[in-house]
Amino acid sequence: MTAIDTENRTAVARTDLDAVAAVAAAARRAFAVTVASTAAERATWLGAVADALDASATELIALADDETRLGTPRLTGELARTTAQLRLFASAVVEGSHLEATIDHPDPQATPPRPDLRRMLRPLGPVAVFSASNFPFAFSVAGGDTASALAAGCPVIVKGHSAHPRLSARTAEVVATALAGAGAPEGVFGHVTGRERGVALVQHPEIRAVGFTGSLHGGRALFDLAQGRPDPIPFYGELSAVNPVLITRAALDARADELAAGLAGSFTLGAGQFCTNPGVVLVPAGVDFAERVAAAVGSSAPVPMLTDGIAAAFAEGLAGLTAHDGVTVVAGETTQQPGTGSAVVLATTTDAVIADPSALLAECFGPSTLIVEYADVESALAAVRAVGGSLTATVHAEPGEELGDIVAVLTEVAGRVLFAGWPTGVAVSWAQQHGGPWPSTTSIHTSVGVTAMRRFLRPVAYQDAPDAALPPELRDENVLGIPRRIDGVLTVP
Ligand code: NAP
Repeated sequence: MTAIDTENRTAVARTDLDAVAAVAAAARRAFAVTVASTAAERATWLGAVADALDASATELIALADDETRLGTPRLTGELARTTAQLRLFASAVVEGSHLEATIDHPDPQATPPRPDLRRMLRPLGPVAVFSASNFPFAFSVAGGDTASALAAGCPVIVKGHSAHPRLSARTAEVVATALAGAGAPEGVFGHVTGRERGVALVQHPEIRAVGFTGSLHGGRALFDLAQGRPDPIPFYGELSAVNPVLITRAALDARADELAAGLAGSFTLGAGQFCTNPGVVLVPAGVDFAERVAAAVGSSAPVPMLTDGIAAAFAEGLAGLTAHDGVTVVAGETTQQPGTGSAVVLATTTDAVIADPSALLAECFGPSTLIVEYADVESALAAVRAVGGSLTATVHAEPGEELGDIVAVLTEVAGRVLFAGWPTGVAVSWAQQHGGPWPSTTSIHTSVGVTAMRRFLRPVAYQDAPDAALPPELRDENVLGIPRRIDGVLTVP
């Protein structure tokens, strides 16, 4: 029995390596074309993918609903967001400011004398993308990582998520067909499945960077593999976030019910399966805010979660929280039904979270929120610091209210600081930042918005290069009409 198992494992490993080697070799060949492609060509490829996804919307949404149980309205919106994202990248690459094209003309009088230096960002090479379970379109096969890497000029190999395998395979077919029809090179897009292939992909010498959205545990394992290679490569992981919210006394006095309703809507959205879920909410002590949130949630039925594994992790996280001496269950079932999640409102104090941050401030991925009472703003900010790196941090205050150190501390822990509002919506735009200090992400970059491309580009400076040897973006004549910084001055045609 043991011998057979060992043989099977060896056979699986060989197949995995062969499959990954073939798709990686094709991506390397495609890179020879994509690295020299024009922005207009890549915009055409991205537009073709968006059009093809839109044309297949009915089929893809039905598949997604079957596998994720997220429902047609949510999935319809998510697919529209995905195709809008592809089109945004298409327009951004043609605009060209993301390349940071910079020209310093020679200056022999400078100290030290300056040669002719021209710098811009160039594509890295084939990129591995690990799609997420909780966004089967927007962070999956044709999601933001894929769109930003293709826009940057990098071939992409997606490791599909096991939570939606049929949707992944069908989306991959639609994407590959659209790219081929739009004239993109063979091998520019690949799709593999299976955990072993994902591991092999991260270690493959042709892969130059990895984009990942998922758990702290899985992301850390793959990050360590990427860093442990003989030639370490960047690993852009979005892993775990608690997203603290601080409500001032003045805001609570002015609109407690409105805030309670807003929080209830945000932390239960999509059964709480959002990386931007508000997991910890700081409120002044001595008010009944937790009870108001419980009333706003009302009776909450169990909702099917994306996978049994995610449901089990939620149940386990809740069990840890509710067993803690410092935590009170204000509303909801502490024992969840298998495969589902139902809303739970918990309460504690800043003293308790500061005394035991690892127990009380870990991400609990699902429809729960921990309301933390503070005696003064200083202890609230100490609790925010104890939360550590998050994707978002939010303050609810009254107009004109003196915020003291609040903004500085929220900026210290998060990539996106919100004034009022709730963090669960993530707009796709030029100014978006979806990434923050560890453990929310493994890098300083965003995975959403135009500058997500920055992850898959590296700066190169050309010194005293003949004009004809330069990329068109850096030649004397700005034929592409892109913004460039020339001798320190930004020029926008
Ligand atoms: P996950 O378990 O980290 O899986 C993400 C991807 O990584 C999948 O392709 C998975 O392969 C692979 N993977 C996981 N562990 C691995 C390992 N040790 N070695 C190699 N590959 C590995 O994430 P998930 O299934 O989407 O969700 C699980 C938990 O992640 C949730 O409960 C939540 O805590 C967190 N999560 C966070 C975010 C976020 O945005 N920060 C989003 C979603 C989930 P398989 O397909 O084979 O499993």
